[in-house]
Amino acid sequence: MQLVIFGPPGVGKGTLASMLSKRYNIPHISTGDIFRNEISSGNSELIQYVEKGLLVPDMVVNKVVEKALKQEICRNGFILDGYPRTTDQAEFLENAVWKLKKKVDIVLNMVASEDEIIKRMTARRNCSKCGALYNIITMKPKKKDVCDKCGSALSIRKDDEPETVKKRIQVYQEETSPLVDYYKKKKILADIDASPRPRQVFNSVTGVIERKIPQQQ
Ligand SMILES: [Zn+2]
Repeated sequence: MQLVIFGPPGVGKGTLASMLSKRYNIPHISTGDIFRNEISSGNSELIQYVEKGLLVPDMVVNKVVEKALKQEICRNGFILDGYPRTTDQAEFLENAVWKLKKKVDIVLNMVASEDEIIKRMTARRNCSKCGALYNIITMKPKKKDVCDKCGSALSIRKDDEPETVKKRIQVYQEETSPLVDYYKKKKILADIDASPRPRQVFNSVTGVIERKIPQQQ
């Protein structure tokens, strides 16, 4: 089963992907991770763009993703996260998957209101000394604003501040809306309400999957 997952920052995409990965025994392919791996293993084509701070062209991105999807661990399928980001990439993906005699079965579009996302992101706290992560709603430190592990002060990362979050949501929406239309036309897009708790979101997603692909039960 081949899944693609879309969702704005802070919507719980990583959590859902790892739950689905365990449930269906297919890997979570995050392009962020693949890129970091490729760079640390010395992919010079990729490195030259990253070092100069340039946008990596579609052609290079496509090649890296295609290589990842051809791996043995993907033989039963995958959950692709962070790709495609453009309709050109979506077309490339369709062809790459077709060459593997597969298809993208479902595109999970995780949806939450801006308020909900901001509420979640601004609840995150980070230890500037040891990097430990906390959440003042779901994973409170024992002592307010103090790291349990090293006793340093906790702070909000720049990325998690409301203004930055709003900007990131906006960028995400501009980037994703053509893809949402693209997959809607292909009739494989499933909107997922990401506002309930992770377990509930997971249950509604497995419901969607098992209705669309009954043999996945
Ligand atoms: Zn700490």
